[in-house]
This record gives sequence, structure tokens and C-alpha cells, in this order.
Amino acid sequence: MASAYKKRGVWYARFKGPTGAWLATATKLPTKAAAKKAAEDLERKAERQRWGLEPLPQQNGMTVGELITWWLKNHCPEPSRVRAESSLQRNVMRTPLADSSLMGATSQRLEDHFRMLERQGTDGARKLAPGTVNHVRAYLRTAFNKARKAGKWQGNNPVADTEARKVPKRAYLTLSAEEVPVMLAHVSSEWQGFMAVGAYLGLRKGEAAGLRKSDVDLSRELLTVGASYDHDTTKGKHADVLPIPPPLLPYIEACLKTPGPYLFPSADGSMRTEDCDPEKVLRYALGRAGIVDGYDHVCRRCKGQKRKEHTWRYLDRAPRQCPTCGMSLWIHALPRRLRFHDLRHSAATVLLRAGVDAHRVQRIMRHASVTTTTGTYGHLLAEDLRAAVADVWATTAPEPEAEAHPAAIAVGAESRSLVTRLLPDDKLHADTIAACVRNLRESFGNELERATRFELATLGLGNTPNTRLTSCNYETFTYPKGIPLHPL
Ligand SMILES: [Zn+2]
Repeated sequence: MASAYKKRGVWYARFKGPTGAWLATATKLPTKAAAKKAAEDLERKAERQRWGLEPLPQQNGMTVGELITWWLKNHCPEPSRVRAESSLQRNVMRTPLADSSLMGATSQRLEDHFRMLERQGTDGARKLAPGTVNHVRAYLRTAFNKARKAGKWQGNNPVADTEARKVPKRAYLTLSAEEVPVMLAHVSSEWQGFMAVGAYLGLRKGEAAGLRKSDVDLSRELLTVGASYDHDTTKGKHADVLPIPPPLLPYIEACLKTPGPYLFPSADGSMRTEDCDPEKVLRYALGRAGIVDGYDHVCRRCKGQKRKEHTWRYLDRAPRQCPTCGMSLWIHALPRRLRFHDLRHSAATVLLRAGVDAHRVQRIMRHASVTTTTGTYGHLLAEDLRAAVADVWATTAPEPEAEAHPAAIAVGAESRSLVTRLLPDDKLHADTIAACVRNLRESFGNELERATRFELATLGLGNTPNTRLTSCNYETFTYPKGIPLHPL
């Protein structure tokens, strides 16, 4: 309970401080009542600080730079350390934000910093992609959280109130099941196992590099994925046992004969490090395997003489002559733009396209939660839904001659209402929906799906990720031009 007392003519306010200890502070207040009022105010403030609603006053000392150094040293997970350190060095430590006190690093200040990274980048660097800004934000947020747990920071986490950048969902370039062996056939033998385990089991670069020969159980055809490089754990922080698919087995068997403890070592038997470049190996193999976006045909003479035209792009690699000087053109393959990590996306894609359910794909991909799997690959899950929904509707659908139904007419009038009407809680009879979809299909066929990018058969499936992906499209729905409405 706050109180006031007088000592040598000065009124003191006595109150319980932020740490719970009793504090007294001298005031310049003339009366006991005023000093007591001040003590009550101070105690209320201290209480808020104790609850973490306000930062503690003595925390002014630590700077953002010191916080980052402390976090990197004590709390940053080992597999992320190199990346986190280089990102934070470049995007925080060399900026004025590093010298700011933690108190000064308000949400507004941090938001301004992220905006600066996004718009112009740090000095001498390029501006950052939204996903990269999110990484910096995530590191800072974790650092503040850890500091709070360690008692180095009491206030709210200021990063939590900054905006996460919207990252455009990218469509991953992948290899089909048929392309994988073709690609592998063009990889040099020292990299074949590394590439194969990425393509068939979706291992990350660090996980493939960290695999040891002791992780292979040939008799049971099992592989234990438990480490990223020489760290104790993977990104997912746990070890998993995966079955080795038959086409991967011969690669694994061959790699068991390499020197050293690692399954896919570099030439001298040591572990491949983060500096190894499977991208380069992959690009070369893709070029050789003909998995390309096209070929550049270059006239080296015209290029050397700095003529305006010296490169032509074709889909084939037939020999051609320079139209200007007649010299035979030099052919460069333009490999499909896959990174090593895209082999992981390929593996997931192949599995999902083959109808493997999301829960098993999650286990093979070793995602912590199935929402990661469905969130990343939700668009692929539409295929098995299509079959399921089509089957149900096929059995309940009336004959095509069935009379036009009001719901079907609504399609022509307003596309939005179609979508609303097809939601599962709508009481419309199933045959109405079927007739409606059938009419739409007959009217527009693939044109409609291409124009709207939603799949008719999956429209009714509420909140599944695939409809969430497509739900934005019907907002801007327009019919393809020049295609007449089907007379219902
Ligand atoms: Zn030429």
C-alpha cells in the first residue's frame, strides 16, 4: 500500500516497485496528501511494469545490437545460426537500429526499419523481398521473447505489433516423377546420391549433407533423418525414420562404399558444408537432360563485335547459322529454374498428385503440422477432392434434359451468387447443383476454368485450403469474352 512520510522537511513517496521491493523517492510536493497521491500513481505504474504492460525503467541500458548478440550467442537454434547471423549483421547490426536502446525500439521504430529494408535496403545493398523482411522480423521477435523469458525485458514484444509482410504465394517449379530418373542419369556419380535423396525423399540440403552411413538400415530399407549438417537436430528438431523408395536404393548402396562416416561426403570423405553448391550440379544435369525452358543460340562473332543482335531463343537445339554473318550459332541450354530445395517440392507434389493423403505426405516431408503441408501444397489437394466430389454428384445427378432450375439461371446473372449457392450449408438440393455445374461445363468447358482459375467440382468445399486459394478469384470473376451463354 503506497504511503508518504516526511524526513528533514521533504515528503517521500513510498511504494512497491516493479520488482516487488519497497521503494521510496523524494518529492517536491508540499503536502502529505499530494505525496501519497504521487506514491499511489507510482505504485500503479510499477504494477503495470510487473505485469509486463510497461517496460521496466532500468532496461534502458541494453541496445538492440546487444540483444541480438546475446540471442545469437545463447539462444539461436544451431541449424539457423549462420543464416540468422548473416541476415542480422547486414540488416540490423550495420544500421542505426542496432544502437537504439530496447526502450527506443518501439513498434513504430521497428516498422519504419522494416519498411526501409523493403523499399531501399541497407546501405549498398539491394532492397529486401517481403519474405526476407519477415525473416529479419522473426529473428527480432524471437530475440525479444527470449529476452523476456530471461528477465532482460519486461514490456510487450514490440515486434509483435509490426506488420508481417505479405509474401506472394509462388507456384513451385517441380520435376515430374518421370523426369527425376532422367535428371539423375545426368548427375555426376559423386553427387547422384545427394540429388536422389532430395528428389525421392525430399531431404533438405543440410539433412542430406548430415546423413551418416549409420543412418541407413539396408535390411529394413529405412533411413533415419536426424541431423542437419553436423548439428544434433534437423530444422524440425526431431529425428524421423523414412522408408527408402526402391529407385533410391541403388544410389544409397553405392554411397555406402564412399570413404568416411558420411553417406554423401565430398571427395575426401569429409562432410559437405553449407558452401557446397548442389544448385550448380542440378542446373548442369537439367541442361544435359533436356529439362529446359529453351535454348539460347548465340553468335559469338557478332557478340564479340558488339553487334546489336547476337542471341536468339528457340525451344529446340537444332544447329542454326547467324542471319547476319553466317557463323554457326553456339547453343546454351536454359535449364528449368529449379533450386535444390525445389526437389523437395517435387517430391511432395509427386506424392500428392499420386493421391497420397496429406497426413502421410506431412510425415514424409517431416512438417511439424499438417497445416504446413496443406498450406504449401493445398492447390494440389484439389485433385483428389475433384474425384470424390464428382463421384458423389455423378450418382445423384438427374438426366441432362432436366428442366432449367432457378439456380442455374442465377449463374448467368451473377457469378458470385453461384458460389454462395454452392456452399455446403446451402439447402439447395444436390441435383440442382449438379445440373447447374453440368450446364456451366457444357457452356464454357475448360474456358471457364481457365478464365476463373477455379475448378467447378471443388466450389462447394467451404474452407479447405484449395478453395481458399481460389476464393480470391471469383471476386474478379468475368466471363471469357465472345463465349455466348448457353440457352438454358
Ligand atoms: Zn553473327
